[in-house]
Formats: sequence, C-alpha cells, structure tokens
Amino acid sequence: MAAPPWRLVLLPGDGIGPEVVSAVRPVLERMSWEFESRTGRRLEVQEAAIGGAAIDRFGTPLPEETLRHAQSADAILLGAVGGPAWDRLPPDRRPESGLLTLRRMLGVYANLRPARALPGVRSPLRPEIASGVDVLLVRELTGGLYFGKPRRQWVRQDGLRAALDTMTYDEGEIRRVARVAFAAARERRGRVTSVDKANVLACSRLWREVVTEVAQEYRDVRLDHQLVDSATIRLVQHPAEYDVLLTENLFGDILSDLLGGIVGQIGALASASLGAEGPGLFEPVHGSAPDLAGRDVATPAGALLSFALACRYAFGAPDLAQFLTEAVDAVLDEDAGLGTRAFGDRVAQHFWARSHVALT
Ligand code: NAD
Repeated sequence: MAAPPWRLVLLPGDGIGPEVVSAVRPVLERMSWEFESRTGRRLEVQEAAIGGAAIDRFGTPLPEETLRHAQSADAILLGAVGGPAWDRLPPDRRPESGLLTLRRMLGVYANLRPARALPGVRSPLRPEIASGVDVLLVRELTGGLYFGKPRRQWVRQDGLRAALDTMTYDEGEIRRVARVAFAAARERRGRVTSVDKANVLACSRLWREVVTEVAQEYRDVRLDHQLVDSATIRLVQHPAEYDVLLTENLFGDILSDLLGGIVGQIGALASASLGAEGPGLFEPVHGSAPDLAGRDVATPAGALLSFALACRYAFGAPDLAQFLTEAVDAVLDEDAGLGTRAFGDRVAQHFWARSHVALT
C-alpha cells in the first residue's frame, strides 16, 4: 500500500500574506515530482482561512475548520495576519489572537529563527562586521511573561493605575527547548549561547541551572551564558561570533528583531515553530505590511525560506531545503528588482535547475 501523502496547509492570512504565500506555489509545483521521489510520499496541499480574512468570512480569526486542518497536517505555512481594518476589535477577537491560539493549540514551544548575511541584502552595519553572520535564535514560545497568570490592570486605593504581569517557567519547559537548541548546535558549529537575566530574575536563575544540566547531555557542544543587556551590545558589535542563541520568550522576541535589523531585510527572514509532536508552524518573521499589500512589491524570500525550513524539519527532506535556500539566495543576489510573483517564479526556475541536476 502506498504511504499516505505529506500534508501541507497554507494559511495566507492578510495584507501581503496571500501574495507571499502565492509566490511559494510555483516552487510547490516544480517540487512535487522530486518530493515524491526523495521522500517516498506525495505532497498534498490545502488552503484555509486565518486572521482578518477569516473574521470577514466566518466571524472568527481561527475557524474550527482551519484548526482541524492544521492539527491534522504535517506542516503549516502561514503568511501574516492583521491590519488596520481589524484594529478596532477587542484584543481577543483580533486577527493576531487567531495566530496566538493556533500556536498554543499546536503546542509549538520552540521557535527557530535563522538569521544570516544574505547575498544582495545590505546590513546597516559595516560590511566587515555584518559579513559572515550566521545565527540560529531558539526562542521559548509558549511560556514566560506572555502567558503567565495573573495578568491585570487596576486602579489602586490611592487612585493610581497599576498593572501586573507574571513570569513563570518550570524546569520541563526550559529543558525541552534547551534540547532543541543543543541538537541544532550539533548540526551547526557546536556552540550554544544562553541568554538570561540571572543577576536579577528568579526565572533566569532556574533557566541557567537547567540549561547547564542539559549541556551535560551534549558534551560535544560548548555552552556559555550571557546576560541579555550585554548580549545585545555584543550582538551588534560582533554578530558573527554567535552560533545558536537560546533564550526565553520575551528576550527572544526582542533579540529576533535585533537580528532582523542586523541582517537588514525583515522580509527575508524565516521561522519554524516546533513542538514535541504534531505539525510544525512555518512563517516569515514579517507582518502583513499593509503599506505594501496588493502592489506585488513585497519580497516573498521569508515565506520561501520558511517553506525550506518545513522541508528540513517537517518533511525530512534536507536536500530539498538546501536547494530551495540556494535558489532564494541566487535570486536575492541577482538583485533584479523583481515583484513578488516574478520572484517566486524565478526561485522555482533556480530550484528546478539545482534539484534536477542533482537527481540526474
Ligand atoms: P510589518 O512586518 O508588517 O512591517 C514592518 C516594515 O517592514 C514595513 O515597512 C513593511 O513595509 C516592511 N516589510 C514587511 N514585510 C516585508 C516584505 N516581505 N518585503 C518588504 N518589506 C517588508 O510590521 P508592522 O508594520 O509592525 O505590522 C503590520 C501588521 O502586521 C500589524 O497588523 C501587525 O499586528 C501585524 N503583524 C503580524 C505578524 C504575524 O502575522 N506573524 C507579525 C508582526 C506583525
């Protein structure tokens, strides 16, 4: 009996989301034959609604049907959600809440964000500092300050407004994401830098203890710890020193944007969010860029590289991931000022040339 197909669910979302996801389609078409011959399974692609587009059609940012499709997929490729049309809705009914719920329902606790010097993309840093940057940020995604309870804002008896957020981590949450970082370092240059604020925060002291314990399981990987404040300076001054950066949710959110700034083009950054089991969620780092939407000018490089991460982490096809990454680099390097659609077509041509030669 033939093996069941791999299942990819596309969630285009809002703004430039549908444009950058459409730009992946020519690659999917070119890839389908190779996909089957390399992985032994067909690739089946479905599309579903999320975010503002889902609010407009179904009245909710994450319809039941979308969640069902996503949960039974092997990988999900998401464009972006949000935009001015939905900004006035209450927080729990906005497009972004659909994405947060999806991440939580999928249990994707490890967010991987590669950031490297890209051909044809100018960093705001001096070339001798920015060249050779190749960092993998591993961010804890489902714990810490963003999910801690209680969380509230109130008016105190003295009339002043006050607010409370809670940061909690348990050792299980830290251990599982640390293992992802160490395993990734083994495949790279063998170094993990764990970023915390252990001189002040109890959560960070536990973080440091547990990460140090996990390092014992990976003795071939070198671990060092840095405080988040000094790490930001070092990242700007010596970004090429870093291999894998491991950190908790809030620090990871900030450091990933810093890395985007160092690389110089947010539209070209990709991410993979992985859980213990079940589908991975793959999405470009950028948002819905309402200023560019509908104009065929957004770069789809981040979406294409996110699909390359899906090939690597979800479909067990690292060679296809490599061909696709090289194809995106080649098109960035051509610097031909291509529109979104033409960029996708050109990447598909480069991909075909590489994978076809390798196979024949
Ligand atoms: P953004 O990432 O959409 O845009 C920031 C800047 O980067 C803009 O100048 C934009 O033109 C540029 N940019 C973004 N993607 C690009 C691409 N592919 N090619 C070229 N340039 C690109 O962030 P924002 O403006 O803060 O947010 C806009 C909307 O997106 C908001 O509604 C926000 O909530 C939402 N958002 C969604 C996600 C997500 O879906 N994961 C992430 C961030 C923001």
